[in-house]
Amino acid sequence: MMRHAQEHGYAVPALNVVDDLSLRAVVAAARRLASPVIVQASVKTARAIGVDLLTRMFETASAAAGVPIALHLDHCPDEGLIREVVEAGWSSVLFDASSLDYDEAVTRTRRVVDYAHAHGVDVESEIENIVGVEDGVGSDSLVHSYSPERLVEAAEKTGADLLAPQLGTQHGQYTRRPRLLPERVHDIRRLTDRPIVLHGGTGLTGDQFRAFIEAGISKINVSTALKRSYMGSALESLREAEAGDVWDPPVLFRAIETSVEQTVGEHIAMFGAGGWAVDSASACSAGGRMQGRRR
Ligand SMILES: [Zn+2]
Repeated sequence: MMRHAQEHGYAVPALNVVDDLSLRAVVAAARRLASPVIVQASVKTARAIGVDLLTRMFETASAAAGVPIALHLDHCPDEGLIREVVEAGWSSVLFDASSLDYDEAVTRTRRVVDYAHAHGVDVESEIENIVGVEDGVGSDSLVHSYSPERLVEAAEKTGADLLAPQLGTQHGQYTRRPRLLPERVHDIRRLTDRPIVLHGGTGLTGDQFRAFIEAGISKINVSTALKRSYMGSALESLREAEAGDVWDPPVLFRAIETSVEQTVGEHIAMFGAGGWAVDSASACSAGGRMQGRRR
């Protein structure tokens, strides 16, 4: 999926789901817009639902999508949980080594990569910390930052497949205007062809996303925008239930799915990811092969 995005100048949306409603909304948007997508779960969500149930939910929901859909574990510093999802057949994991010093981060990432690759699973590597706290993981200040050369040296030592460097974005809602660093993507891409991931995709404009994609970003993570869409639509639906004194849960479910599906669709459009006539897509947890051409 990453290679296809690199070759065709778009970014694959990586969308954090929290339950079956948000999962179905992501798959519905991917299907409607003919876009490959990555379904992501935070460590918190994976633990809340359980790896087995989440894996089965994904397999069932994605089976008829008609586009490649991958299942990815977001920001995980816990090698035990990584082993669990690798064994369950997930497509990829983000090993979060951003709280560790350089040498320790390289050693531990290398161990995760060796294990994951032996099972055909890709690894996204983060050794610089991205500002902001997401589902209880992260920090509000920059602790580890390296030169593009040092980042690529680490990637070569660890064998990581995707890189998540600091790019001026932050997790959660922006508390101040970010200083975005698309030129850093350019600098890293000059040294490696490993796909680069943009975290903290909530709150950027279409132009800002385009600048990042032109600089060489091929995966963009979106979590907070989907949570806001989910909770905002739920609140509105519950207020209507209260006003009319009609308490019908499927009405709430539909409101949430419709809202999240629309938010996902807006991001697919901003990332230029839709409109593929897919020749062969096996939407399985091992990741489909993307061989599409523009419709
Ligand atoms: Zn992130």
